[in-house]
Amino acid sequence: MKMRMLFVLLTLFYFSNSVYSQDDVIGDWKGEYLSDYGDSGTITAEVIAQKDDGYLALIRIDYGPKLELAGKKASAGAVFSGEIYVGEDLGGSYQINAKILDGVFKGKFSGVQTTGTISMKKIVKKSPTLNMKPPENAIVLFDGSNLNAWRQKNGKAAMWKILPDGAMEVTKQDIVTQKKFSDFKLHLEFKTPLKPEATGQARGNSGVYLLERYELQILDSYGLTPQNNDCGAIYKVAAPLRNACYPPLRWQTYDITIHAPRFDKSGKKISNAEVTVEQNGILIQDKTEIPHPTGSRFSKNEVKEGGILLQDHHNPVQFRNIWILPL
Ligand code: MG
Repeated sequence: MKMRMLFVLLTLFYFSNSVYSQDDVIGDWKGEYLSDYGDSGTITAEVIAQKDDGYLALIRIDYGPKLELAGKKASAGAVFSGEIYVGEDLGGSYQINAKILDGVFKGKFSGVQTTGTISMKKIVKKSPTLNMKPPENAIVLFDGSNLNAWRQKNGKAAMWKILPDGAMEVTKQDIVTQKKFSDFKLHLEFKTPLKPEATGQARGNSGVYLLERYELQILDSYGLTPQNNDCGAIYKVAAPLRNACYPPLRWQTYDITIHAPRFDKSGKKISNAEVTVEQNGILIQDKTEIPHPTGSRFSKNEVKEGGILLQDHHNPVQFRNIWILPL
């Protein structure tokens, strides 16, 4: 009997550890708060993985501002504890003690005026253009089978890994399309790696360089107030209009329309490149003018056509389903 119980306990211990993954904790949560007086409303959280098994939950009450609640990895799931200030109208500060376990984020809150409970479930968003088929006139740049449309900048064969699921992963060197394009629509799907220990530009960095010069940033910027070097930014030129990022390890989409700069007969630029971008179906760049090449790695000159370049920033970002429709 004792042996049997030990076996059960060991099995439970093993199971509770083996099913735990950070991916079960990070991401979007949505549900309800309920006070002991019967007041209720919407509560959401965006959970970000941080260094040293830490988490940060960005909590919103009734779609108010984001409030930070610190968390920590537990033997299974995660625990969160701290004080949030929701404004005098809602009773000032509240202590929250909550945990994420088995797909539920729940706990208790207590303040001067009232106590109550919160309960949220995981939301997994899906881009409306995910897996979008290329239109008839489109040129397929990557469909999971080969890297024939791509080369390294020095002209050698592209070296990126193609994974068994048909995605390609940043491996070595930037890659650029063999063909050059001017005005076009580009669809691509990308996935950033989970790098809890990294912050800022080291957290899942890659990028799509349009005409080999203008970088549309790829980064794990999930939950952040976007800056002009975050995901969806035209690097150091324009921050995205809003944060449309999914958490790392989720496939995301970019649907890009760009008009190349125009030049007069003498070669003088008469209009800037102009780009519109939807990330995960949400407008993040709206006819943004790009006055000059971004960053310092590439040509300073501007041209009326160029390749699509995917950046090797030494992070295993993945790409799939890439096609382009010249306009
Ligand atoms: Mg980049």
